[in-house]
Amino acid sequence: MFKMFKPTIQWILQAVFPFFCIGCEKEGVLLCEPCLKAIPFAKARCPVCRAPSAFGRTCAAHRSSLDGCIAVASYAHPWVRDMIRLWKFEYVREIETVLVRLLLRHLQDAALPSVAWSLIPVPLHPKRLNERGFSQTRVLSDILSEITGDTVETQLLSHGWRLRRRQADIASEAKRRTQKLHAYFRVKGDGIPTHVLLVDDVYTTGATMEGAARVLKQAGVKYVWGFVLARNK
Ligand SMILES: [Zn+2]
Ligand SMILES: [Zn+2]
Repeated sequence: MFKMFKPTIQWILQAVFPFFCIGCEKEGVLLCEPCLKAIPFAKARCPVCRAPSAFGRTCAAHRSSLDGCIAVASYAHPWVRDMIRLWKFEYVREIETVLVRLLLRHLQDAALPSVAWSLIPVPLHPKRLNERGFSQTRVLSDILSEITGDTVETQLLSHGWRLRRRQADIASEAKRRTQKLHAYFRVKGDGIPTHVLLVDDVYTTGATMEGAARVLKQAGVKYVWGFVLARNK
């Protein structure tokens, strides 16, 4: 089963402050079944220009490394946003039980080509991972894997430090700061899969996913799709 680690402190907190549904404030659940069903799924759109497209395929004209991106819901939906915030920033791991239900419901409708996908969690910056104590992209990948039976691959994609080494040569402090914001990934190891589903929680500008998709393609992956919990628009 999923690694639903529940620190003791959360058990105590829940006894003192029971959960209330994010949607209707019903006591005892984080998101009740009617509210869960009321969350609309995100429309399938090209991840680059947001034009409607089949399953979220990227328009060929963009020459993007990301072949498409499947988004479960919209980050603009207040309950979705609340859930993700509670999960990522308040560390309410019980949200994961809601995510399982949401993804189960979504994947009944989503038409992923029935090939063996390698589920690759978008790596978190090590500093973020230390702060949070868990990787939300890894947890999401594990949930997906439980549902689809696809394998989670965590060794192939990681952060590269190419930029950090180069920074020693950059004289301007301001320039160094802006350059730090860019995510760089690297692929290591053999056994390059054909189909990769890059898993992330939120899709905003797409820069992270594009960067990850690019190195995967360079390493020989044929198809790279994204799978995100929420897309910003
Ligand atoms: Zn409710
Ligand atoms: Zn497009």
